[in-house]
Amino acid sequence: MKIKYLVAASAAIVLAACSEAPAPDAEPAAAEPVASSNPLLETWDTPFGVPPFDRISSDDYLPAFRAAMEMHNEEIDAIVTNADAPTFENTIEALEFSGSKLSRVSRVFFAVHGAHSDDTTRETAKVVAPELSAHSDNIALNKDLFERVLAVYEQRESLDLSPEQLHLLNETHKQFVRSGASLEDAAQARLREINTELAELSQQFSENLLNETNDFELLVTDRADLGDLSDSLVELAAEEAKRRGHECEECWVFTMQRPSINPFLQYSPNRELRKQIFDGYAMRGDNDNENDNKAIIARMASLRAESAALMGYDNHAAYILSDNMAENPDNVYGLLDQIWKPALARSIEERADMQAMMEADGIDDRLRGWDWRYYTEKVRKAKYDLEDDALRPYFEVNAVRDGVFALATALWGLQFEELPDVPRWHPDQQVFEVREADGSHLSILYLDYYARESKRGGAWMNALRSQSNVDGFVTPIVTNNFNFPAPTEGSPSLLSLTNANTFFHEFGHALHGMFSNVRYESLAGTSTPRDFVEFPSQVMENWMIQPQVLRMFAEHYQTGEPIPQELIDKINASATFNQGFATVEYMAAAYLDMAYHVLDTTEEVEPRGFEDNAMADIGLIEEIIPRYRSGYFAHIFSSPVGYSSGYYSYIWSEILDADTFEAFKETDILDQETAARYREEILSKGGTRPGMELYRNFRGRDPEIEPLLEKRGLN
Ligand SMILES: [Zn+2]
Repeated sequence: MKIKYLVAASAAIVLAACSEAPAPDAEPAAAEPVASSNPLLETWDTPFGVPPFDRISSDDYLPAFRAAMEMHNEEIDAIVTNADAPTFENTIEALEFSGSKLSRVSRVFFAVHGAHSDDTTRETAKVVAPELSAHSDNIALNKDLFERVLAVYEQRESLDLSPEQLHLLNETHKQFVRSGASLEDAAQARLREINTELAELSQQFSENLLNETNDFELLVTDRADLGDLSDSLVELAAEEAKRRGHECEECWVFTMQRPSINPFLQYSPNRELRKQIFDGYAMRGDNDNENDNKAIIARMASLRAESAALMGYDNHAAYILSDNMAENPDNVYGLLDQIWKPALARSIEERADMQAMMEADGIDDRLRGWDWRYYTEKVRKAKYDLEDDALRPYFEVNAVRDGVFALATALWGLQFEELPDVPRWHPDQQVFEVREADGSHLSILYLDYYARESKRGGAWMNALRSQSNVDGFVTPIVTNNFNFPAPTEGSPSLLSLTNANTFFHEFGHALHGMFSNVRYESLAGTSTPRDFVEFPSQVMENWMIQPQVLRMFAEHYQTGEPIPQELIDKINASATFNQGFATVEYMAAAYLDMAYHVLDTTEEVEPRGFEDNAMADIGLIEEIIPRYRSGYFAHIFSSPVGYSSGYYSYIWSEILDADTFEAFKETDILDQETAARYREEILSKGGTRPGMELYRNFRGRDPEIEPLLEKRGLN
């Protein structure tokens, strides 16, 4: 199946604020030959069948990929050459079960490569991307195979299939059609070329971005330039300077990683230094140097437009959206436009507050992009007597983890036990067994907290093994990955409110994977349309700032004192603070994504001017730049498909999540009956039904937008 491997590869390479790997692939149902000395291809005799990370070396991946693709080809040949007439079992299920080794190798490789890459995995990623793309095409464009799928599809009404089986059949047929299986030979040949080129270009985009990100540093030599930055972050910056070999008595280095740059922009009183790091961040991929991404972007947009036209769609967005809840670009713009106006108006009010504050500081200039976060903190302090950093001592990373676990226990009775001896890819990782209230095994959960150069940016979830239930129930193994500030000699890892929120978010994806209860792996867990997949993760964010949840975990890491009521009140009072900025910054990127992908011409654009025009069209104010500018918009350019035409998904999903949390508020936010229904109707169902149908089954009606506007304070 084309989609399986393209999605697996692309989701894992994506450098995302949050992404996860929906990777719908099959796990072995049949006995596997144990013929090779490559640990990736052997049967795993480990606790819970986790990957033997302690025995896998980076050199093992490429040969394992190639051997697994070979095995997959043999399985496909066996389906195609089967002398029996096509049936659901010998064609659709056989396809579903094929490629299990390749799926396993892909899952482990892209998890490790994302979280802890080295030169060898980077080289492997580069080499294997076009090979996987060609492999997918060989299957998706195999005419004999498609004929068999079509034969089964045409008898679908008379086959007496279960709803899940019928859904698998429909999805399989649809993915073949969407991959070009029914096109003429010449069009198919062109499609193969396009796919290969997209795979190579997106790989180059990622590499350039990683170089640009790692190349930049801001060296600070005057302590006064750090302002009120918290001690733990000051120490982290000092250690970074040492690690990078700066020989100075007192100096600090800030990098392009969010736990480093954002606090600097929030707290450094030095405008010139703020500008330097802000520009460094914003110009990545747009410096007219050897890492420039503009030509890649232009070419990718053109190739996507050409590919969509070959498939008979008006543009790439129309092609992508036809397979999502949103269905078409008009529906996406319809949603974005409803929220954009009030959000922009709010951001202009926020700007006025900050401009006044800046003038009070005696600065005779208008507010700029590099001033925004700094004056946000000042206004926050003046209005709510609350500073972002003041919360960190109550959000030590293990305390937040315990809060996430306690919430899962309160809602679903889950139990967590740490497994200190299970193999992992980095010594900082924690591994837990997750059990049901009755003590039965549910899943294994890996947590990888800290930012490091070997880890891509953002936070995400992977499934190292997906749930399925064909010849027995296969339990899932999932990971959560973050870029939290690492502990230093003098301080543990203390999270910001945003970091803590991210923890709850990613754990929501993990729950989606862990609670999966379906038959077929390709429909399990997070294998849903893109604009549905952020819904279970974002739901979890709603609980974090609730007073009764904060009281479950937020205690001072030194004194052990629970978070004072006064701070809880301030957090809740300021919950909608700066939401104009947050919404506008995000939505500008969503509009930019759409602009590239509603292009109906293969004529290449000039990305810098194109982006400027797209932002002028929506009236974006100068002081705010899109959350991702083109040169580092990895969601949409770091893989052949990725989140292209899909960045709107977060706000689409937010309608569902805010409306879902309303259901809890209508009873009790810790109501176990509502939680059980939410688990049963949404979290356990994976992608076995259309998203809207699942939602209606849970809520008894269509989603409403008001809770979202209220949550963001935009109503
Ligand atoms: Zn997410």
